Amino acid sequence: MRYAVHCWRKLATRLLDWVYTPQCELCGEVLQDGRSLCESCDRELPRLSAPFCATCGEPFQGRIDGPFQCPNCGELDFTFSFARPAMLRDERTRQLVHQLKYGRAIHLAAELGRLAAESFRDERLRPALAGHWPLVPVPLHRSRFQHRNFNQAAEIARSVARHTGLPVLAALKRIRRTDTQALLGRKQRLSNLHGAFAVTGAGRRHLATAAAGVILIDDVLTTGSTAEACAATLRRAGCKTVLVVTVMRG
Ligand SMILES: [Zn+2]
Ligand SMILES: [Zn+2]
Repeated sequence: MRYAVHCWRKLATRLLDWVYTPQCELCGEVLQDGRSLCESCDRELPRLSAPFCATCGEPFQGRIDGPFQCPNCGELDFTFSFARPAMLRDERTRQLVHQLKYGRAIHLAAELGRLAAESFRDERLRPALAGHWPLVPVPLHRSRFQHRNFNQAAEIARSVARHTGLPVLAALKRIRRTDTQALLGRKQRLSNLHGAFAVTGAGRRHLATAAAGVILIDDVLTTGSTAEACAATLRRAGCKTVLVVTVMRG
């Protein structure tokens, strides 16, 4: 059975290669094995590295020894413990996320999830790995899902799951459609998101037996308002700890 699945996968990959030549999304190099980023573009992507804010992952230019918090997070009290983006924002990371979301380049979710999974090298995520905490994608509202046909956070979470061995749990749903957040400040974003999320039946069942923690997955962390609204919803449902992993810092 396994062999048959393997053969089908191989055949499907070949067919896809035949209809569409896989190329590196960034430099156009022709690629094999279903990859969409070449090795050198991948290697040169801007990984988040110390020093960065222990709460939101905002990078700090210069030298700081030990953990620190950015001035912005010093004034805020997030419900999630910390957010760990894997990448910094630049032309390339922005292009990859943008292409996935708006260019319907769903194949990029595999690469972006693999990159997001690099965040799990951060030792603060060790308890989550050891405790087999589920990956919870930030949900899209039904109307937006129907328009886009996929939820980028869920696609990324599936790929993170393959690389970490953690399960994906659709613990959240978006019950209210919200205006686009892009032009809003942090406070406005939070009030815009008020009452936007709810815990699903599956989420409730999971939290009834294992409420230790979950890892929220999204493509980008910008002000942290979306992650905050999701974390607050999960905590109200009994979840003890919410961590956030994203592909990039917005
Ligand atoms: Zn390339
Ligand atoms: Zn911060």
